[in-house]
Amino acid sequence: MWNGDSWLAGLYEEAVSRHSREAETESPLERKRRLREALREAIGSFEPNPGFEPRLLERVVCDGYVRERIELSATPGLTFGAYVLLPEHTNGPLPGVLALHGHGYGSREIVGLLADGSPDVGAPGIHGHFAVQLAKRGMAVIAPDVIGFGERRLLADLADNPDTPNSCFRLSTELLMLGKTLTGLRVAESLCAFAYLASRPEVDEARIGTMGFSGGGLLAYATSVLEPAVRATVLTGFANTFKDSILAVRHCIDNYTPGILLHAELPELIGLIAPRPLFLESGDRDPIFPVEGFRRAVATIKEIYAEEGAGDRVAVDLFPGAHEISGRKSYDWLKETLSE
Ligand SMILES: [Zn+2]
Repeated sequence: MWNGDSWLAGLYEEAVSRHSREAETESPLERKRRLREALREAIGSFEPNPGFEPRLLERVVCDGYVRERIELSATPGLTFGAYVLLPEHTNGPLPGVLALHGHGYGSREIVGLLADGSPDVGAPGIHGHFAVQLAKRGMAVIAPDVIGFGERRLLADLADNPDTPNSCFRLSTELLMLGKTLTGLRVAESLCAFAYLASRPEVDEARIGTMGFSGGGLLAYATSVLEPAVRATVLTGFANTFKDSILAVRHCIDNYTPGILLHAELPELIGLIAPRPLFLESGDRDPIFPVEGFRRAVATIKEIYAEEGAGDRVAVDLFPGAHEISGRKSYDWLKETLSE
């Protein structure tokens, strides 16, 4: 016991066996309600900013869609940019998607731009320009700049190193010291972006889903759990167990939520989205969200959906690839699901 490995493993086992015991004494509905509140409390909340008037910053006509840039704010004293992609259309309001990127240079990476804002005409990176892919299928997409990346890196980090990849560490540690989390802030801004998209006259507010990759998958699942109006969810490069992913592989500090494992493992938390449609996508060689954990998560999530009589609403694509977006089935699935 000198090294602590088996002691830590024992703590984990104790936590997950407590989840099973609790699940036996609570009704499924009570448990869902309690876990949803536990997630909300664990990630922390931020003072809302309902008086903020969104501002149009830019409008660019692109190939098949218009790209706007909007300034939004989820909490007083802090604003953020979001790209809105509006496909050319004639037949009534559009389905919408909240598109959430992971680590990288920010929302530009998913709307077909390079870090400097110029068009990315080369092969897309691991994010696959997925916001553009969704817009080209006829969905209106909002892609908020997730705080900590690209233009939203902290000036304090850029002063230390102009090439600093992100500000996750400084943001996370300061917020943790205040009893908050970076995930909580990012989810608050995601919810704000979702509400803004729902307010757009071009969009059918009853048909808005979300798609998130990697760290954006974390935000997409939490946003879906906390906002019942999210109609369908695609998680790519994210679904797993905590044990097989963030507890087994060194991940960015923004993945760790204090106390959440006292309540549930990740598959059960993702299962809180049930019975709403859910698509789980992962590369079979993803080194940071490993395939064994993905398979375990899928099995648990499918059980939860089956128990809720929604077994046909969870779809899976394990594609040949690494930590990257495929979209080979998920893009069309999202379009079809939001068209129903
Ligand atoms: Zn990070």
